[in-house]
Parts: sequence; structure tokens; C-alpha cells
Amino acid sequence: MASATASISSHSAVPRDVKERTGLNFPLLFVRAAARIGIVRQQVAAAPSAAAARGQRARAVRPLRAAEPGRQPVSASAAAAAPVAPVAEEVPVAAVPAAVDYEALAHELEGASPLEIMDRALAMFGSEIAIAFSGAEDVALIEYAKLTGRPFRVFSLDTGRLNPETYQFFDKVEKHYGIRIEYMFPDSGEVQTLVRTKGLFSFYEDGHQECCRVRKVRPLRRALKGLKAWITGQRKDQSPGTRASIPIVQVDPSFEGLDGGAGSLIKWNPVANVDGKDIWTFLRTMDVPVNPLHAQGYVSIGCEPCTRPVLPGQHEREGRWWWEDAKAKECGLHKGNIEKENQAAPTANGNGNGAGAADIFQSQAVVPLTRTGIENLLRLESRSEPWLVVLYAPWCPFCQAMEASYVELAEKLAGSGVKVAKFRADGEQKPFAQAELQLQSFPTVLLFPSRTARPIKYPSEKRDVDSLLAFVNSLR
Ligand code: SF4
Repeated sequence: MASATASISSHSAVPRDVKERTGLNFPLLFVRAAARIGIVRQQVAAAPSAAAARGQRARAVRPLRAAEPGRQPVSASAAAAAPVAPVAEEVPVAAVPAAVDYEALAHELEGASPLEIMDRALAMFGSEIAIAFSGAEDVALIEYAKLTGRPFRVFSLDTGRLNPETYQFFDKVEKHYGIRIEYMFPDSGEVQTLVRTKGLFSFYEDGHQECCRVRKVRPLRRALKGLKAWITGQRKDQSPGTRASIPIVQVDPSFEGLDGGAGSLIKWNPVANVDGKDIWTFLRTMDVPVNPLHAQGYVSIGCEPCTRPVLPGQHEREGRWWWEDAKAKECGLHKGNIEKENQAAPTANGNGNGAGAADIFQSQAVVPLTRTGIENLLRLESRSEPWLVVLYAPWCPFCQAMEASYVELAEKLAGSGVKVAKFRADGEQKPFAQAELQLQSFPTVLLFPSRTARPIKYPSEKRDVDSLLAFVNSLR
């Protein structure tokens, strides 16, 4: 590859040109970020041929570990498809400081640009870090990595169930950046057992976790066992339920890295603080290829049977596993996000601590229901008025997050004939709520219509006043 190293000042035509073309602020951010980094190594001074670029990249890539210790080796077809090129000298294994305080580092980088964060991650981990690429707008990570001028690796999980457009997009990205994506495949024996015993679409009947475990989580675990760090495209705005407090960098709470054991893997989230719209501005500005599914209304992109377009105003996670409870929408790749919530429920049986957690939804407009009260509501074949009830736990951060909108809703509905109530469903009430009230996670909102015996569960994770009001008014 014809590459050159130059200071940003000698390549200032890049951002200026972009600014002239777009009139957007990004180039200024780029210059500032690059200036803070010190030097940006431009590898595109003379455009390499695609073949030459691929060759260079192939030499720069070490294959991800083929098999997880103690597990079956990867299937023959998968192994054949995996790259086997040796590690190149120009992708150094960076000397990582023995003890890094990642909490402090995350704090330090909180205001840094994605480019700076990417540069820091690649500088720290060299060939022992890789970008996890899903085939969606996280292609921005690859663009940022390219802009650092450092060598980088990219891996992706080929579940076997992706949309054809996503496969075509992978190919386009490889050609555009002159890279080979390191695909990870599910174990063929495990897929065979799952499909032969439960069919091709078992996830619609008994939840997506089992299939995701086979097709995504275990291949990911194998990939990560060959690394010391990984880079994800998680953003706080992607899921108010599970991604609201993602740090820029963290010790991975769920997976192990090359050295094995807890704390052996570092997870970088360079775009954690970036809004989806800003990612798209960046992609457009930099003329980055994007998955054609986005033009068909897909925002979040995953496997074909489990992803659908969303309507304007719908949250992007509503397009994933839409038949399931809203808050459990993590496939297991980032399950630490969910575990955080569970940690907030301190007792071993998951019943919540109760003690010390101040009660919430405290308003005269919200009726607190006892167990007997809600059992009575359940028993009534025909109620004189509809009831809206939130099943909650006061320690749950998602319940706390909807407190203001629920109280506002209750005050709006006061005198309208609709009763608004709450039932604390953690602790010893939890088994009852799970069995009788469709509780899967907190908060669960139920409408007991006036003339229907069965309560109707609010299906969306949009918990603003207008959405809840629309639900009540359409079913009361
Ligand atoms: S997203 Fe759907 S098809 Fe893909 S692994 Fe998960 S359950 Fe299976």
C-alpha cells in the first residue's frame, strides 16, 4: 500500500474539502480532534489498488481464535472461510500498561471525540483489539479507525440468518476499505441440534435467547478469547432500557479475553455519547457506504427474521424481537447492560431489596394497590371504569425513569373516568405477578379495560405521556 505519514496540517485539504462540500461542522471537529491526537497518519496519499490494499490488510490481520477451550472446534466450513494470514510486523502488539484504571480513563475520555477514543484504543492494544461490525451504521467505527491511520482489525458474526443486503454490504465494506472482515460462524453441530429439535423459527415461540446463544454469543465468545480488547458501536440513545449508561471504556463485565478470567477483556464504546443523527451526518459527510436496508426503514439491523423496519417516531429497538418484552432486547452480545439492572436488585433471588429504596409514583392521582386490590381487579368480569396499573419495583432504574411521565399521565386522567394505579410487584409479590399479571421485567404497564376481563399489557418501551395516553384511549 502506498502510505505516507504526515501531520494533519499537510493534509488540511481533507477537512476543508469536506467542509466545502457539506457545510457541516464535522470537519472542524475533525481538525480539533486530530490536533488533540497530535498526528494523523494519512494512508491515502496515493490511492492504492484494491488488490494491493487487500494484500496489505491481509498481512496485518491475525485470525481470531478458531475454537474456545473446552468447546468443539469451529466447523470445517467456517474454518475454511476464516482468514489464516500471519501477523504482520506493522501491526504491533502494543505495550499495555500493567494496571490501568479504566473507570478513570472512561472519565477522562468522556468528552473526547470518537476519533480520539478510537486512536487511544488502537494505540493501546495494537493487533490485540478488533472492531465488532454488525453491518449497520457501526460502519462509522471502521471509518474512524481508518482516519487514525493505524492498522486495525474488524470481525463480524455471520449467524447464517442475515439479510442478503447485509452480506452484500459486508462485501462492499471490504472493498471500500481494502480489508478482510474476520467472520465468526456458529458451531454447525449446535445449529443442527437446535433446528432439528425446535425448527427454524423457535425464537418466535420460546424467545430469542437460545438461538442467539448458538448463533451469536458463543461465536462472539470464541472471537473475544483471541483478543485483549474489542470496540463496539453501542450508543446510549439506542436503548433507553439497556444502554443508557454505557461508559466510553470498561472492563468487559461479561466476556473473557486472551488471558482468561474476569477482567481479561476491555470493551471500548467510542460512540457511546454520540446521537444516531450525528452518526448519520458523519457517514454522509465522509461518503461512507451504508447498508441499503436503512433506505427501507430499518434502523437497527440484525438477523432477517428478527429485524423489521420501524415507523417514524418509533424507537429503533422496537424493530428488534418485537414479539418480546421491550426491555430484554439484548441478544447477549452486550448482556452486561442488563446485568447492571439486575445488580440493582441486590437479593440473591432477584426479588429486590426493598429496604432503603424510597417508594416512587407518589402522587394523589396514583392509587397504590394492595395484593387484594389487584386480585379483585383481576376477578372482575366487567369493571365500572378502566384501570391503568404499573407493576414496579422502587429500586428499578427503568421504573424511576418513567416516574415523571406516569405521574403526569395520572394527573391528566384525573376525573376522566380512568383510574391510574401502581402495584409494587417485587419481593414476595413477584411470583404472583409473573404468573397472573404477565410480569417479565420492570416496569410492566397493564390496562384493565372496563368491559374485558383480561388485562392488556402495554407493548412498547416508549413510556412518554402521549404514548401511554394513546394506549389508554384506544383500548379503554
Ligand atoms: S437474532 Fe434471531 S435469528 Fe439471529 S441469532 Fe438471534 S434469535 Fe437467532
